[in-house]
Amino acid sequence: MTKPKILITGGCGYIGSHVAKLLTKKGYQVVIIDNLSATGKKIPYGKIYPIDLSEEKEIIKVLKEEKPEAVMHFAASIVVPESVAYPLKYYRNNVENTLKLLSAMEKVGIRKFVFSSSAAVYGIPDTVPVPEEAPLNPINPYGRTKAMIEEILKDLSEAGSLDYIALRYFNVAGADPEGELGPAYNQPTHLIIRALKTAKREYPYLEIYGTDYPTSDGTCIRDYIHVMDLAKAHLLALEYLMSNGKSLVLNCGYGIGFSVKEVVKTVKKVTNIDFKVVETERRPGDPPVLIADNKKIKTILSWEPEFQSLETIIKHAWDWEQKF
Ligand code: UDP
Repeated sequence: MTKPKILITGGCGYIGSHVAKLLTKKGYQVVIIDNLSATGKKIPYGKIYPIDLSEEKEIIKVLKEEKPEAVMHFAASIVVPESVAYPLKYYRNNVENTLKLLSAMEKVGIRKFVFSSSAAVYGIPDTVPVPEEAPLNPINPYGRTKAMIEEILKDLSEAGSLDYIALRYFNVAGADPEGELGPAYNQPTHLIIRALKTAKREYPYLEIYGTDYPTSDGTCIRDYIHVMDLAKAHLLALEYLMSNGKSLVLNCGYGIGFSVKEVVKTVKKVTNIDFKVVETERRPGDPPVLIADNKKIKTILSWEPEFQSLETIIKHAWDWEQKF
C-alpha cells in the first residue's frame, strides 16, 4: 500500500533534505516547497515546487493540487546573530510566512503539522538539562519567532483546528552517513562546519566567541545531535500524528553537552589537522549552556538515537565537507 503524501517546506535545506530522503525511503510520497535560498540546489527526492512561502496564493494552489495529509515545516531563517541584526527579516520569514502556511492549510483542510522549533525558545534556562515544561524565555529574535509560533500552534490545537508536534532542536550537526546529503549553507555560521572549513584552510583561523562564560572552560556548552537521528525523530513524530496522536512539544537532543573548546579539540582529532584558533569577544544572543532533557521524546515516541557520538557527528560532517 502506498503511504500518504507529505508536504515538506524547506525540503531542500539541511534538515528538510535528510527528512525528505528518509520519508521517501520509507515509502511516503514527498512534496517539497522550497525557495532554494539556503543552497540554490534541488535535492533528488520528492516533487519540488520552487516557491517562497510568502506567496500565499501559490501555496494554496500546491496544497489543493497535492492534497498532502500532513505538513512538515522546516523553511525558516536560522542564524541567531543575523536575527539580532535584522529582526524584521526573521519576523517576516519565520512568523508571517508560517501564519500564511497555517491559513493555507486551514483553507484546504489539512490538520497535521510538524514544526521545526528550537532550544532557542528557552533562552538561558534555570534547569539543565532543560525539560519541555521550562518557561519560554528567548533572548534573541530567532528564538522569539519560534516561541511565537509555538504559542500560536497551542491556540490552534486547543481550538480544535489542528494537531501538531513542535520539535525543539538542540545543535544539529553531521551529515547523511551514506554521503549523499549534508549541510550546504552558502555562508555557514555554525561551529562544527566553520571548524571543518578552517581545517580545510578555507578560513585562516577559527574564532571562539567568548571564553568568560560561567562554564568549566569558559566557552559555551551545547548538545550536538546528529541530523539523521533528528530526521528519525521527525518520522516518528509524523507516524504519531498519523495514528491520531494529540499535540506535543518535544526536545530533540542527546542530553549531553560539549563546550566550544571540546568541539574544536574533537575536530582536530577527527580530521588529524591542526589549525589556528583565536579567542574573541562573545557573540550577541548566545546562552551559556543548552542541554536537552530528552526523557519525553524517548518515552512517547520511543526514539532511540543511533549516532550519539560527537566523533561520529564530526566524522560524517568531515566526509561530506571533503567532497567540495
Ligand atoms: N561558535 C564559535 N565560533 C564559531 C561559531 C560558533 O565559538 O565560528 C560558538 C557560538 O558562539 C556558540 C557555539 O559555538 O557558543 C555554537 O554555535 P552555533 O552557531 O554552532 O549554534 P547555536 O548554538 O548558535 O545554534
